[in-house]
Amino acid sequence: MNLIIKNRFSQKITQICFVVTMMTAFAVFTSPTNAQNRLSIAEVKDGLHMITGPGGNIGVRITSEGVILIDDKFPQDFDEIQSLVASVSNLPVRYVINTHHHGDHSGSNAGFLPIAEVIAHKNARENMIRGNQDGLPRIVYSGETSVFLGGVEVQVYHLGRGHTNGDSVVYFPDLKTVHGGDLLHGTAPFIDYGNGGSSHGWVGTMNNILAIDFDTAIPGHGAVMNRRDVLNFRNQMEAVRERMTSLIRNGLEFDDAPDEIIDEGLSWTQAENGLFMQRSIPGFYEEISAEID
Ligand SMILES: [Zn+2]
Repeated sequence: MNLIIKNRFSQKITQICFVVTMMTAFAVFTSPTNAQNRLSIAEVKDGLHMITGPGGNIGVRITSEGVILIDDKFPQDFDEIQSLVASVSNLPVRYVINTHHHGDHSGSNAGFLPIAEVIAHKNARENMIRGNQDGLPRIVYSGETSVFLGGVEVQVYHLGRGHTNGDSVVYFPDLKTVHGGDLLHGTAPFIDYGNGGSSHGWVGTMNNILAIDFDTAIPGHGAVMNRRDVLNFRNQMEAVRERMTSLIRNGLEFDDAPDEIIDEGLSWTQAENGLFMQRSIPGFYEEISAEID
């Protein structure tokens, strides 16, 4: 390549880069999911905040020796999470606890790993490896573990299968508050059968959550819950299981399940977020069919 062609070539590259940059800038300004300040933070209790916005709800536990995060949304949220944390504490994030492996809850792990320890259930880490996810936790646990920081204890429990096979429930005993990850969902849950999810396991796991002494619960998605909300969630899981069981006993075919499961008394079957109706029903039909056989 002679010099002139080379120069033209690099000129062309510069032009392309400029166009791409402008397109990216345009996308940033026009796409609501990439808009600045897409996340917000609010106090749940003294020393505990919640960051909301697209992706899983983040718990922000403030201590005198640093901050403990529960979940960390998507990769592109790292900077905004850091600035929101800085708005409520002048200390750094020291630990991130992932409630499970999904990318809207563990997406900023790679950003936090150079400055903090990331902790998850061992099955959640295995699910991340199988899914080729970045930011693998350096610390895993199986039954339960705790983080002690600045005079605060944060307890982490695996209470059984449910949303996945690696769900953690995080308990702040001094605040009588839990973060349930996607074991709790404000609209309708997703049973991730591909990663060990189970409606049968979920009922037992809900009973284990209800055995904890809490009055406030942060769900994976949606508004802060009280004990009654958590109880209602458990009851609806039992109710949809009973409905699917009786429909299958009465000859329900696989293809008819999405239409037939709809019931005006069961909000999940009428929810438009698709997590339950579109993504969970096929596996749910198979799970209940196998229980009946
Ligand atoms: Zn999830």
